[in-house]
Amino acid sequence: MRLSHLFTKTTKNVPADETARNAQLLIQAGFIHKEMAGVYAYMPLGLRVLEKIKNIVREEMNTVGGQEVLMTTLQPRDIWEKTDRWDDAKVDNWFKTKLASGAELGVGLTHEEPIVDASGNYVHSYKDLPFFTYQIANKFRNELRAKSGLLRGREFLMKDMYSFARSQEEHEQMYERAVEAYHKVYERLGIGDRTYRTYADGGIFTPRFSDEFQTLSDVGEDKIFVDETKKIAINEEIMTDDNLAKLGLNRGELVEKRGVEVGNTFHLESKYTDALDVYYVNEQGERRSIIMGCYGIGVSRLMGVVAELFSDDKGLVWPEAVAPARVYLVRIGGDDAIRHADELYEDLKASGIEVLYDDRDERPGAKFADSELMGIPYRITVSDRLIEAEKYEFTPRNSGETTELTRSELFAKLG
Ligand code: ATP
Ligand code: MG
Repeated sequence: MRLSHLFTKTTKNVPADETARNAQLLIQAGFIHKEMAGVYAYMPLGLRVLEKIKNIVREEMNTVGGQEVLMTTLQPRDIWEKTDRWDDAKVDNWFKTKLASGAELGVGLTHEEPIVDASGNYVHSYKDLPFFTYQIANKFRNELRAKSGLLRGREFLMKDMYSFARSQEEHEQMYERAVEAYHKVYERLGIGDRTYRTYADGGIFTPRFSDEFQTLSDVGEDKIFVDETKKIAINEEIMTDDNLAKLGLNRGELVEKRGVEVGNTFHLESKYTDALDVYYVNEQGERRSIIMGCYGIGVSRLMGVVAELFSDDKGLVWPEAVAPARVYLVRIGGDDAIRHADELYEDLKASGIEVLYDDRDERPGAKFADSELMGIPYRITVSDRLIEAEKYEFTPRNSGETTELTRSELFAKLG
């Protein structure tokens, strides 16, 4: 992509209405556009990052056998009444709207009810089970506070997966497979070493704990207590002597930290399937309950977390796995430099390397500053000065150290 064609622009001005570092940087770099508090649109480069995160999540859910669907944002009231989750007194962050006829609708904030209801059309016998199904779609929640940029949106992208099992035993196996997939997602995003499986409240329907996935960060809203040797943690909200004993954790070995909840998995038992009258018939012809789990990942929140954690005073520092491009190509100089840079741009693309080509007539300093703000992993500079020697400047974003490389050395680095 040529920067001269990109319709978004960077800005040096820190947005006055944003206190969150992730939102400040992403807006300054032209990756996202703020519609209103907690509601952001994705511009071309931001969308590339989001799509890469989505694809990592998608690949790992597919690996455990997840079948992707896309549920609807508009929700009929009746299925939510069956589980007693329609009433604002029960769930207080619904956005609701009305049809012209006056009938009330909900704007999807989670999807257990619609997924179970739809599955009921297809699931009748033990032969129809087990399975995982998931979607990656916008959720809408009327959050009280939305000051953390992508970390807490009123409209945000979530991956939600649901497991349907014939027995508790089958459920437990599926649940642990999903947890493994979660760890893989966080590893691939470069936050695996600081993301902890964290015991948390199980929600209103089960006495069991849920598992949160908490990424350590000073901007985290949650207080958690980490056992560094066991690599697990417990959320402050369930930290009682009783629970510590139940979990085999020792208060003296726990360190207090702040975390951002980047995922949450729940045991749902048969609460939703029973309520929506979805059962199966076993081999003996007897009607049985279906045991469910649900598994959420905050996809747009992850983009905010990665932006927040991988940044410095110059801007974003994307890990390669999610960067909008691998290379930021700068050209400095006259016709010779233009010719050489154009050629290198084509060659990089032909080698399958994603490249942002800064072909604008800007000062070198402005181009370098933009490459740093945008956080592209490698900068290559083609300048008049080096053309004769047939060399290029190569600057990794994370070290900032420039070396001069020949063409073959350059391709070897990127290979
Ligand atoms: P929180 O406690 O942060 O409000 P939650 O427990 O209500 O989140 P879940 O219903 O468990 O959220 O949703 C699954 C995942 O979706 C969360 O683990 C989180 O990563 C993400 N998520 C939830 N709410 C938001 C939000 N308002 N903005 C962005 N991501 C969110
Ligand atoms: Mg949660």
